[in-house]
Amino acid sequence: MLTYKAPLRDMRFVMNEVFDYPAHYQALGQDEQASPETVDAILQAAATFCEEVIAPLYQSGDQEGCRFENGVVRTPKGYKAAYDQFVQGGWQGLSYPPEYGGQGLPMSLNLLKSEMMGTANWAFNMYPGLSIGCINTLMQYGTPELKAQVLPRLVSGEWTGTMCLTEPQCGSDLAQVRTLAQPLADGTYALSGTKIFISSGEHDLTDNIIHIVLARRPDAPPGTRGISLFLVSKRLLNARGEAGERNAVHCGSIEHKMGIHASATAVLHFDGAIGTLIGQPNKGLEAMFTFMNTARIGTAIQGVAHAELSYQGALAYAQERRSMRALSGKKEPDQVADALIWHPDVRRMLLTQKAVAEGGRAMIYAAAQLADRMYAAAWAGDQATYNRLDAELGFYTPILKGFLTEMGLEAAHWGVQVMGGHGYIAEHGMEQILRDARIATLYEGTTGIQALDLLGRKVILQTRGRCVRDMTRDILALARPKWWSSGPLGRMARALTWRALQWRTLTLRLMLKARRDPEQVGAAAHDHLMYAGYVMMAHHWAQMAFVADAALRSGQGPETEAFYRTKIETAQFYFERLLPRADAHHRMALAPASTLLQTPAQHLSAL
Ligand SMILES: Cc1cc2nc3c(=O)[nH]c(=O)nc-3n(C[C@H](O)[C@H](O)[C@H](O)COP(=O)(O)OP(=O)(O)OC[C@H]3O[C@@H](n4cnc5c(N)ncnc54)[C@H](O)[C@@H]3O)c2cc1C
Repeated sequence: MLTYKAPLRDMRFVMNEVFDYPAHYQALGQDEQASPETVDAILQAAATFCEEVIAPLYQSGDQEGCRFENGVVRTPKGYKAAYDQFVQGGWQGLSYPPEYGGQGLPMSLNLLKSEMMGTANWAFNMYPGLSIGCINTLMQYGTPELKAQVLPRLVSGEWTGTMCLTEPQCGSDLAQVRTLAQPLADGTYALSGTKIFISSGEHDLTDNIIHIVLARRPDAPPGTRGISLFLVSKRLLNARGEAGERNAVHCGSIEHKMGIHASATAVLHFDGAIGTLIGQPNKGLEAMFTFMNTARIGTAIQGVAHAELSYQGALAYAQERRSMRALSGKKEPDQVADALIWHPDVRRMLLTQKAVAEGGRAMIYAAAQLADRMYAAAWAGDQATYNRLDAELGFYTPILKGFLTEMGLEAAHWGVQVMGGHGYIAEHGMEQILRDARIATLYEGTTGIQALDLLGRKVILQTRGRCVRDMTRDILALARPKWWSSGPLGRMARALTWRALQWRTLTLRLMLKARRDPEQVGAAAHDHLMYAGYVMMAHHWAQMAFVADAALRSGQGPETEAFYRTKIETAQFYFERLLPRADAHHRMALAPASTLLQTPAQHLSAL
């Protein structure tokens, strides 16, 4: 049976010692609301909720799954009660403005809460998680009336939200969206079409669901420039925002899928459903991508979540299970055999999981600070600052989403492997984590789409490599003070310095190649993204190691000596055994596109 324990020590280390969150909240003017004591109390309460309420539903929810009966979706046993507790705890509104019933705390706290909830039970976390995109879109683009009508109930969690983009013929390529929005005399629209794969599109946790829907008006130009955004409430709303009779949107079925069985993935039919335009006509994609960076960071968290949970399960098992003797002689002579944890190959797997979970956490928490500043600018109406931070976060986001979800999947795979055949058996939960982790590289933009976004749009088109120069400048600044020191930290600093310079030349070379052959962008994109991810994680591991080293030297850190030493040793593992993979990605990114495209498509089959 799988259990979850929130890694509060590591979370506090990253927040307080590495990124100085107290100073960050002070700079945001939120040092009173988000004082260290308050933050700690929130984290502790969230941990208790996750460990005691939703983690115990993780495996049972997977086994039972959601059921579709006569147009109604039933979530697994215990989900409704747990969701009610979530609402009573005020968890949905943690980071939303008090005028809509929220607690007005920084957005980063919401991300930290999501990390714990997602690790404890990703499928459960999807229900409130989807509401976040919906709330953010309305906060930015809703009229004051619409906000007043809808936001308080979404912020309280009384209702949930969805994001309805995907249709049978298109997921990545939203230019092909066909759902039609016919204008009505009263200024509303009648929406007709089918959306598929809609997470939380129908369920029994709340009375009403607010759908944010991409659709076309009849006179819209083709392609992405003709897409508008609409709000469709499952139940029609009166002026006071009270939900009444059913709107013409119905669930046709739910998907039977590889993982996240407890999350309802719905086919939704819109048969003249009444909807309200949000934002400008034909500017729907822009509006939909509002705060998309934060939604994608939310999915990047899934990589960390699955790495953490599978690490916890695998570590416990490797300490108990015995097999043969260590190669250097008996480690536990009183026992029939040594525990798995003594064997180097098992250590390799466990340390990979640990390095991904903790390195990924640091990457997320750094990005969360940027998100805080971006939201503060948005709520204050400071568009220029918002745009600048959005662009900065926009560079990190495809790396976080693409790299961390791929690495989370790998970590989940090692979790199964550490347990041997028992990892493949449902009872231990490891195969479930692996199945659940698989979706993370697909939805919210596949890894391939993230990779194109990173190299094609962010690096080449939008910034001509400036974003890489900015990022590597920070890396060089961190590495330089340690450059001359000997020992493991000096080696890390030297490796980082070399990688920062290598990343710059790689960018330049890819830009030149792309000028000669546009296919080179698509051919290099995946390896370029993975390369960027390995280097970015190295940056964060070095930061953590340097902080741990300083704490050991001063003897002033709040953590134990063993904790800090383990941080430095895990960083060493990362630099010696994971970062070298960047060499292969570097080489593959520079390989000619012709190795992928020279074979005519019709020759790929020998049937
Ligand atoms: C469980 C689940 C939950 C989901 N939840 C939601 C939701 O809540 N709301 C919603 O709207 N959607 C949701 N989706 C849909 C999801 O976002 C899409 O499946 C995803 O965006 C991929 O689209 P697609 O399936 O149409 O694949 P396609 O777009 O057909 O892509 C297939 C493959 O081709 C690659 N590819 C496509 N175009 C290119 C290109 N130009 N260059 C290089 N490679 C390319 C992709 O990377 C991918 O590997 C969900 C899906 C699942 C399975």
